[in-house]
Amino acid sequence: MTLKALLATLVAALVLEASASAGVPPSHEISVTIDPQTRLIEGRDTISFDSRHKAVLLLSPRFRLASLSADGRPIEAHTQTAAGLTRISLPPARRVELSWSGTLAALDRNVDHRHTLAADAPASGPEGTFLAAGSGWYPAVEGTLERYSVALDLPAGQRGLVPGRLIEERETDGRYRARFEFSNASEGITLLAGPYRIEERRMRTAAGSQVRLRTYFHAEIAGLAAGYLDSIAGYLDLYERWIGAYPFSEFSVVSSPTPTGFGMPTLTYLGIEVLRLPFIRATSLGHEILHNWWGNGVYPDTARGNWAEGLTNFMADYTYRERESARAGSDVRLAWLRDYAAMPREDDSPLIRFTSRRHGASQIIGYNKAAMLFFMLREAIGAPAFDEGVRGFWREHRFRVASWNDLRAAFERSSGRKLAAFFSQWVNRAGAPDLRIADAHAERAGSRWRLSVTLGQSEPAYALSVPLAIRTAGGEILRRVPLERRRETVVLYTPAEPLAVALDPELRVFRRLAPAEAPPILREVMLSSDAEMLPLSDGEDLQRAARSLAARLFERMPREISVGGNPAAAALLVIGLHKQIDAWLAGTGLQPRPAQLAAERGSAQVWTLRAGEERTIALVSVRDVQSISTIERPLPHYGRQSYLVFDGPQNIERGVWPTRPQIWHIRKSPGA
Ligand SMILES: [Zn+2]
Repeated sequence: MTLKALLATLVAALVLEASASAGVPPSHEISVTIDPQTRLIEGRDTISFDSRHKAVLLLSPRFRLASLSADGRPIEAHTQTAAGLTRISLPPARRVELSWSGTLAALDRNVDHRHTLAADAPASGPEGTFLAAGSGWYPAVEGTLERYSVALDLPAGQRGLVPGRLIEERETDGRYRARFEFSNASEGITLLAGPYRIEERRMRTAAGSQVRLRTYFHAEIAGLAAGYLDSIAGYLDLYERWIGAYPFSEFSVVSSPTPTGFGMPTLTYLGIEVLRLPFIRATSLGHEILHNWWGNGVYPDTARGNWAEGLTNFMADYTYRERESARAGSDVRLAWLRDYAAMPREDDSPLIRFTSRRHGASQIIGYNKAAMLFFMLREAIGAPAFDEGVRGFWREHRFRVASWNDLRAAFERSSGRKLAAFFSQWVNRAGAPDLRIADAHAERAGSRWRLSVTLGQSEPAYALSVPLAIRTAGGEILRRVPLERRRETVVLYTPAEPLAVALDPELRVFRRLAPAEAPPILREVMLSSDAEMLPLSDGEDLQRAARSLAARLFERMPREISVGGNPAAAALLVIGLHKQIDAWLAGTGLQPRPAQLAAERGSAQVWTLRAGEERTIALVSVRDVQSISTIERPLPHYGRQSYLVFDGPQNIERGVWPTRPQIWHIRKSPGA
């Protein structure tokens, strides 16, 4: 997984089951003392319910319950353990008080992102404390959203926070104390602490509210604080003007000693090494800030599809590229469509089923197809109606759960158009149209030319507006034509003789790219469920290295064939020394080693090529057998590339073969 992909994981991923329960959420008043050196934690909580209420509290079994009372009277704790948490059943009460203490797990700096997120146990250490919502570090009320106030008490030198408004903060008697409040319904409380240096800036936003911007950074990256504060201010300004007022009073960037990255309301938690990467400020930070509107401001109705990642991807990552240049925007769309084309069809599913990212396929649908939906929507209704729809959706659903249907309604109001068919075909249906030009011909019509273009698409047909670029003797003309049936002919008039028609050359329609349109990438071979591997040598060393590389590269281990064998699968990985590869290509009549790679640079070269309509071949060409093992670790990270050159484990060159749009060269009609 790339760092950027890793960072896109987000709070919206947390399931909002609780939102269905009506009434005012219970509120916690927590005070907690943590000693990261000894990892001891002591907490007290007063939980208030809006009416006498029977509830279950969830606490980590690491802790000992020191006291428990309901409506002022001490009670016996009825506990049982399930799913790694102690369940404490309470009698009906309006007010429950309890205290607990125990030892936190040791924070392991080497845990990866997945494990930080999974957060089996609340963990602490001098370098950082990470107590995730759901880890049982405080007695969470089961099955509901919660409001809270948290007072933190830490030894001097340590500082910490939870999402919410900072009410007070003091450093006295060798202690750091701070109190936070979160008055909206929250999905749980995550507590972060560490040996932080705090930098702060106050900002008056475009909407006129005061926002406190902060960085909580470890000493080794303290120098990055000013740049991050500048970027936060810039993003808040961008999205306030675009959507509406920032819904919170603070935003903080907090460094993590573990290599992680995710967001919560009012803050984002990113690994120290991640924060050092220059592109984080330019992309992922804006993405996380925008989630304060989409995800933490309006909650996706996850049971009926999570729209928040797609809308955030479109209004953050995609928008930044599109603002660079039109070309950069179409490069992003190409990457989305190329990844979609490379995805096995059996992994496809309707957008409405996307809840959160679990694997590559869910990102291709939930992040990318959804972002393309918003792109096409803006094309269909125009940017002013799109922006007005976004603002209306925000006004209406702020701090409430909203679904794809609510989005549709907001854009229908802003555009005055019926959008049920549009949303239904992109949200409820899996797949994508296969578009092609079936025919085109032209004839003179007085002083003009009459051009007939027949377009075809796969069944079931989508209702589309298809861009055509018509090359004429007098220059290029861009037109959009409707296509609603499986096959339709449109007639267009051009002032000069039409010479060729290109189908959607800027990739403005979500569709399945034709094999020749989509440049072959390594991932097509890696993800194929029908793959073969061909080591070009009987030598045991090469065969062993080839198998080991394949085990890293493929999700499902490919069938192995030998040099004399007849490859039959949709995907083929060929591994050999430079000379063996060149000889094999010559013998099979495939294109020789591409010119870019001909100088035999580096110790290993990897490239893809298309053989016929439906088959993709990846070649791994090495100087010596040892060079196969050397690229074992890095190679799987380059699935989106068409060609790569490695010098040892170091990638020194990479790229994607150019896309080739479908072009129909026009014949003149008889008699024209
Ligand atoms: Zn996200």
